[in-house]
Formats: sequence, structure tokens, C-alpha cells
Amino acid sequence: MLLFCKIVLDMSAQDNILSNSFQSGVTKPVVTNAMSVDVEDYFQVAAFEKQIPIEQWSDWPCRVEANTDRLLALFEKNGVHGTFFILGWVATRYPELVRRIVSGGHEVASHGMNHVRIFNQSPEQFRVDALACKEILEDISGQKVSGYRASTYSIGPDTMWALDVLKEVGYSYSSSIYPVQHDLYGMPGASRFPFYPRDGVVPGQRGILEVPITTTLLFKRRIPCGGGGYFRLFPLAFSRWAWRRVNSIDGEPGVFYCHPWEFDPEQPRIPNLSLKTRFRHYLNLGKMESRLQGMLSTFVWDRMDRVYSRQIAGDGEG
Ligand SMILES: [Zn+2]
Repeated sequence: MLLFCKIVLDMSAQDNILSNSFQSGVTKPVVTNAMSVDVEDYFQVAAFEKQIPIEQWSDWPCRVEANTDRLLALFEKNGVHGTFFILGWVATRYPELVRRIVSGGHEVASHGMNHVRIFNQSPEQFRVDALACKEILEDISGQKVSGYRASTYSIGPDTMWALDVLKEVGYSYSSSIYPVQHDLYGMPGASRFPFYPRDGVVPGQRGILEVPITTTLLFKRRIPCGGGGYFRLFPLAFSRWAWRRVNSIDGEPGVFYCHPWEFDPEQPRIPNLSLKTRFRHYLNLGKMESRLQGMLSTFVWDRMDRVYSRQIAGDGEG
């Protein structure tokens, strides 16, 4: 109850600051945040892997192209550029979509070939997969691909070796750690902001940059606010409040992520899901577009490779 009162008081105080800044003509905070999209279809999420194994993906109607086009239109309307972490599976089937992402001024990055979580791959399997996806995306886009995001944020304490592999095959940064406690992913002890967790693993060499998904701190507890299911669960006012805290109190950019299927309330329903999985996947899909519009209007956004250019170049704190 105390926590709830503190959040409400803090939210209304920050709304006052915002309305004052509107009156004085300053409409947005100055910190530029990172916008990102994980380009995968609704039947490819890890929570459905028992109901729809990879061999059955082609039995389901693809909606990723149309849904990503809706997102591209929303970004264009708002003058926002972002980073699209694209599955190799999607890129090989929809190369024109990849080219539309490029022509919209966005960064093309890698989400791996087939959305297999890191702990289900050997280091050699992961190396082959991460390199193949990079090469396919570079061929199609004509852009250098420097960013990688692991399926379902599956880089954690037991899979840190994957960061070394990413560096070896030519990636410059990863955004694969959600520094919270969660049943499907999470590394609650990791830094909340960009860091180099593998510095010195090869003696004298800087490890790859990791840019974690955004959390805010409340009474020393980490509250996830970087997008996905949490963004659909909490009201927009909460997300705005949390991001203002990150930008003003931490003085740092945040990393937001979403999926094209989150903007598609009409997507086919998957049978035989647990109550928890059904709740998480289908919650508030109809509200997603207006909520994201609220975030796009309130904050300043750009691609990850530009927001973190200094750290990607290796010029950041370990
Ligand atoms: Zn994903």
C-alpha cells in the first residue's frame, strides 16, 4: 500500500513538472532513448514452443510483414528511427520487408535464425547461427549488422560465453540481458545500464558491449519498464513515470522493445495454452498502438547504434 501511495504521489509530481515544461515551451526531456523491435511472428514466441514446434511454423498464417509495416508507419508518422532485431527465418522469407526497414532509416540487427534460446544451443551451434543470421541480414540490407539480441533475453549467468562468441563473429554490441527476476529469463544482479561483462576474458581485450533492457528503481527494487508484457500490463501513466525517472534521476537513456505481434489483436489464437501463458501473450494487444504512440510523443528516440555509439566504440565504463 505504501509503495502504491509513493508511486501515485511521484507520478503526479512528475506530471506537474511535465505540464510546466509544456507551458514554458520545452516539451520533451533532452535524453535520447533507444527504440527497438524484435521482428518475429506470433507463433515463434518461446512460450508457445510446446504447442508449435519449429517444424510446424509454416502451418500458421504469417502476419509479421503486415504488422511490422504498421509499426514502420507509426514510426514514420512520429519521425522516430529505431533498431529492428530481425529473425533470420523472417528475413529469408520477407527480404523486401528488411529493405523497407532500411529505407525507413532504421538500423537492421540480428535476433538469430530460428528463435532458439541460448541455453538450448552448444557454443558451436550458436556460433554458426549468429554468423549465418548476420551474413543473411547484411546481404539483404546492404548494411553492416553490429547488434544482436538473444531469443527471450536468454543470456544469463550460465550463458555468458555467448557474448564472447558474438564478439568473435563480428558483432559490436548485444542487448540480451533483462536485469530482473523472471521465470523465463532475467539476470537480476546485472548492471542496469550499458556495461562490458566480458572485459579481460581474453587478457587485455575489451569484451563486447551489453545494453540491458530498462528498469527503474523504487525503494532499491528493480521495476521492469522496458516494454513487452510489462508494458501491456501497466497503464501508460506508469510507463511514462518510470521512464522519466530513468532519464532524470539516473540521467541515462532507456531501451524500449516491442514485437510486431503485440499490435495485432486479430492474430489466430493458439489452443491448449496455460492460463498464465494466455494472459501474458494476449493481454491488452488492442491498447498497444495507442500506448506506444504515448511513449513516442513523450520521449525522444533513436536507433541503438546511434544512442550508444560512444560505448559501442569501446569508450565506456567497465
Ligand atoms: Zn524474440
